[in-house]
Amino acid sequence: MKTENFVSRRSFVKKTSLGVGATALGLSLMPDLACGTTNKKKLGIALVGLGNYAGGQLAPALQETQNCYLAGIVTGTKSKEAEWMKKYNIPAKNVYNYDNFDEIKNNKDIDIIYVVLPNSMHAEYVIRAAKAGKHVITEKPMAISVAECQQMIDACKAKKRKLSVGYRLHFEPHNQKVIELAGSGEFGKVRYVQSEFGFTIGDPTQWRLKKALAGGGAVMDVGVYCIQASRMAVGEEPVAISAQEFKTDPVKFGDVDETVTWQLEFPGGAIANSTTSYNLRTNEYMVSAEKGRYGLRPAYSYRGIAGYIKEQPMGYTEVNQQALFMDAFAMNVLEDTEPVVTGELGLKDMKIVEAMYKSIANGGKWVVI
Ligand code: NDP
Repeated sequence: MKTENFVSRRSFVKKTSLGVGATALGLSLMPDLACGTTNKKKLGIALVGLGNYAGGQLAPALQETQNCYLAGIVTGTKSKEAEWMKKYNIPAKNVYNYDNFDEIKNNKDIDIIYVVLPNSMHAEYVIRAAKAGKHVITEKPMAISVAECQQMIDACKAKKRKLSVGYRLHFEPHNQKVIELAGSGEFGKVRYVQSEFGFTIGDPTQWRLKKALAGGGAVMDVGVYCIQASRMAVGEEPVAISAQEFKTDPVKFGDVDETVTWQLEFPGGAIANSTTSYNLRTNEYMVSAEKGRYGLRPAYSYRGIAGYIKEQPMGYTEVNQQALFMDAFAMNVLEDTEPVVTGELGLKDMKIVEAMYKSIANGGKWVVI
């Protein structure tokens, strides 16, 4: 991704996401702009997989959105059906399970399907959603291989449906500022990025520690944020990677990576150094450019993100990242415009992840991306 792309993305975000309220208010009944989908004002979203993120963040955010609303649910847990129907006023006709999911194609209330399942299930449900004629958002990581990401992109293209990945930080003002600085060159060329994201994972039986469901460990879960941060901060695509894995608990982390560090080399000479972990707490990134230093800490949280430029606070107001993200995507559908976070952007992360695991398997040897 070139710097210009990030810059245009930034101004696009400003227009369609931070200013989304005004845009939404300006909407009258839209002509058939949504790739032939709808002439609605507000698009219906169905959440697939009612776990922590769907229940704790996305459903509440959908109470604040202006261009979309929580219209339906897809769950494999019977008890969640009644609970969610009551809590969010969802009619029984908009409730699905994983077996009858494909019938959603006949449901005009559902315009967008948001896949919030364990990582290895993203590809299947995105492809099924596209085949059902719905626009799709999938959570990060986009999938667990480059091949799957490509299949998801192809499936959406074949049905002329829009696809996005839940990289909510593209809608967060401190993170957007870092993207803007990469584009403007105000601080000269970026020389170095230090990005870290780790937490201590609990329950040893959870799907995040099972390779078949997670595709990998900390790298797949929170390491992708560091990859995103480095790409955004430098404004280029990395060309090579060297990675190292550290394991202190081979029982708990028998199936997936525990702590991984890596270095990325960018074509303009910048270097990124990152750490991700399921066994230590860190959440920040720092950018060192020719004329100064800036960064974020915490950098990746839902709330409370703080940033500095030359030690002075950036001081942006907190936003609801999930609401802005979903509203912007709904507007992309309504206006038939390109999402800020595309499937191609998610696929590039997975290319880096695959190269990372290859480097680890080869004792940290540099791998061309
Ligand atoms: P949870 O484990 O809390 O929820 C996953 C849900 O998926 C379950 O509750 C269940 O819902 C459904 N499910 C279907 N099959 C399985 C299975 N075999 N094992 C476990 N769950 C299954 O996970 P999260 O909500 O934390 O994460 C879901 C996705 O969202 C992941 O891809 C994750 O990376 C991403 N995520 C993104 C965040 C972000 O900030 N962008 C933050 C957190 C997560 P049901 O009972 O309804 O069938």
